[in-house]
Amino acid sequence: MVVTGGGPSGMMAAARAAERGCRVTLLEKNPSLGKKLLLTGGGRCNFTNAEPDNQRLAAFYGKKGRYLLSPFSRFSSQDALNFFKSRGMGYKVEDRNRAFPASDSSEAVLRVLREYLEETRVRVVTHCEVTSLKASLGQIVRVETRKGCFEAEHLILATGGTSLPATGSTGDGYRWLAELGHRVRIPEPSLVPLAVRESWIKDLAGLAFPQVRLQAWGPSGQLASDSGKLLLTHFGLSGPLVLNLATTLQSAHRELAASGNSLELRLDFFPSVDAGQLDRDLLENFRQGPNRLTKTALAGLLPPRLVSRVLILAGLDGETPLYRLTKAERRRVVEVLKAFPLTFEKLMDASRAVVTSGGVSLDEVDFKTMKSRIIPNLSIVGDLLDFERPTGGFSLQICWATAWSAGSAFEPSQNVESS
Ligand SMILES: Cc1cc2nc3c(=O)[nH]c(=O)nc-3n(C[C@H](O)[C@H](O)[C@H](O)COP(=O)(O)OP(=O)(O)OC[C@H]3O[C@@H](n4cnc5c(N)ncnc54)[C@H](O)[C@@H]3O)c2cc1C
Repeated sequence: MVVTGGGPSGMMAAARAAERGCRVTLLEKNPSLGKKLLLTGGGRCNFTNAEPDNQRLAAFYGKKGRYLLSPFSRFSSQDALNFFKSRGMGYKVEDRNRAFPASDSSEAVLRVLREYLEETRVRVVTHCEVTSLKASLGQIVRVETRKGCFEAEHLILATGGTSLPATGSTGDGYRWLAELGHRVRIPEPSLVPLAVRESWIKDLAGLAFPQVRLQAWGPSGQLASDSGKLLLTHFGLSGPLVLNLATTLQSAHRELAASGNSLELRLDFFPSVDAGQLDRDLLENFRQGPNRLTKTALAGLLPPRLVSRVLILAGLDGETPLYRLTKAERRRVVEVLKAFPLTFEKLMDASRAVVTSGGVSLDEVDFKTMKSRIIPNLSIVGDLLDFERPTGGFSLQICWATAWSAGSAFEPSQNVESS
């Protein structure tokens, strides 16, 4: 058997098939395995979502989640937690059920997978770019690479999507699958950060806020609103809050742009209190040191780099002592803190996307075995499948469950050769 692509799904599928008795060769074009995996979760790898109920877990993937019930019944998120733990990787579960290695390092996840490959004696060939798949009479017969040809009785395709192409995921699998007769939805970046028009945003790059409300407005009113963790970048906004809203914002932007309007964004840095309460809290705070400068008082409440922008937007001089600040001026500060104004420019391209939506049509895959319904000796796993999912460990859970199912589809006696 040949497995193409040494990311999380390829490694898991290869080792599992080998454990079931297949002789497996894993082909990876990079010099090493799991390049993207090492970048996941900001280097900490949110390796699964610890939601224990498979129905509820599947619901996070929207309508298409029902396809995952079968793979989850063989490898649930609890199985993922146990799999890594039983192989010496402690883990911790953070808010929203996000599971991370106890060491906070994606290296720990990769180490477990590498050891699994070694233990099951998978032949790993790196620096080995697959250039084409040769099929005859509706079956894969050969995998052609820059290092020569590999005959394969069965092929598991795990070449990933198109996000962060620098990691090796350049969408080759989509092209091959389309050539083989599969319907492939052209991948669009999903969970991408967004750029704003205001160039001064770069002065705020790196500021992170655990709980912010983001609202999107058009001329006819509010179009979207959600709260969560936000990260300001040199081009705009990122973090789970923005990533999850990106698709909604993009379609709202497209509609407004067609009629010559802009999509206005508003950040509420104090979402747990209303404007009146925030004003009272500020007044209380300012009274405790009325001789302080406005900028000094605000720096006690906000990141200092944000203070100068808030003052500019409120039209205030930060050098004004608090005792001279008028009620109207204080209220302008409140307005800016509750509705920090930005303008949507565009979603960033695939090179910054966290996952790509799109991929092979799910009804063309048998989710019990992950075998193609079009090419019987081909299995398809991981990011190649057309699922949409939020952040929170849901992408890697697809990889583990589909790869485990693909590898488990072979009887222990069945020795599917590669040469
Ligand atoms: C910045 C970032 C952070 C992320 N964080 C998380 C997270 O915390 N939690 C989570 O669940 N998901 C996260 N994801 C998503 C997750 O990384 C992917 O869902 C996952 O890596 C998909 O695994 P895969 O094995 O299907 O594909 P990939 O990881 O893309 O691996 C595919 C492999 O195939 C190889 N390949 C491609 N073409 C060829 C070829 N022609 N010949 C040979 N080899 C080839 C590639 O080099 C690559 O190694 C993140 C993604 C990004 C970009």
